[in-house]
Amino acid sequence: MGYDVRIDGSFVCSCSDSKTAEFLNENIERLYESFQKNSDISVSAAELCKYVSALYLTKRYFAVNNYNYKKPSKINVEGIMLHSPAAPRPDALQEIKRDFNKYKDAKETACTHAVIDGNNGRIFQILPWNWRAYHCAGSFNSSHIAVDMCDPGEIKYTKNNGRTGIVFNEPADKSYEKARAVVDRTFDSAVKLCVALCIMFNLNPLGKGKGADGKEYPNVILSHREAYVNFKSASNHGDPETLWNAFGSDRNYNMDSFREAVANGINEYKKSGYFIPIHMIGR
Ligand SMILES: [Zn+2]
Repeated sequence: MGYDVRIDGSFVCSCSDSKTAEFLNENIERLYESFQKNSDISVSAAELCKYVSALYLTKRYFAVNNYNYKKPSKINVEGIMLHSPAAPRPDALQEIKRDFNKYKDAKETACTHAVIDGNNGRIFQILPWNWRAYHCAGSFNSSHIAVDMCDPGEIKYTKNNGRTGIVFNEPADKSYEKARAVVDRTFDSAVKLCVALCIMFNLNPLGKGKGADGKEYPNVILSHREAYVNFKSASNHGDPETLWNAFGSDRNYNMDSFREAVANGINEYKKSGYFIPIHMIGR
């Protein structure tokens, strides 16, 4: 069941939720104008709409040269996977240019659906949500939306006896503070994005998830690390927890607190009946 959202006189798309449709209908003119003016607004309220036709508002940042964009295949969105690139580069647009918006004729070309900037928390959607992205080298590629949170620039990834860790650049105390601010930002934006995606795709962040392999998983939102460690359905990576763990108990960064925060965001939405305008995320 869909509710009409009128983007302009000739263009109607559908949204699964009447309150969101109402919000969009009331604000779409203003939103559209601001999209046109502000090239750095990357995620539009229209993305709440389920249908691909809504995406013309946001295609500006799509990784149009990536294999996953050029040769798309649709997926049923069953969940969300969190990543960090594990490289000290906070700038999302640079990261998109460097790693995603280029062509290689291989199904295994890496891509995510969204990249979150470490300097300002902005979210850049680079692939339609229901297109397959090759992001974890496992079956979750065909079922999960991938969200990449850029790393702080003040760290280095280290390898010790096969274990990946993090050191802070000198002076370490200053770097620690700066890096923590980046992680606060990307964590917060990722929560907001996941609230929107859960509403959009009717996902329960505290419920059980399903994979494209038909198996049931304990969580709808997984980290790359969880997908590998618990299910071996992804490559052997530790993101994003390797980064989060560098802050120890100073911050409650872990997948359970993340899922909890998303559930709280959805409850807020249900209580107020008002969607956090996604175009505002990170701004
Ligand atoms: Zn990853």
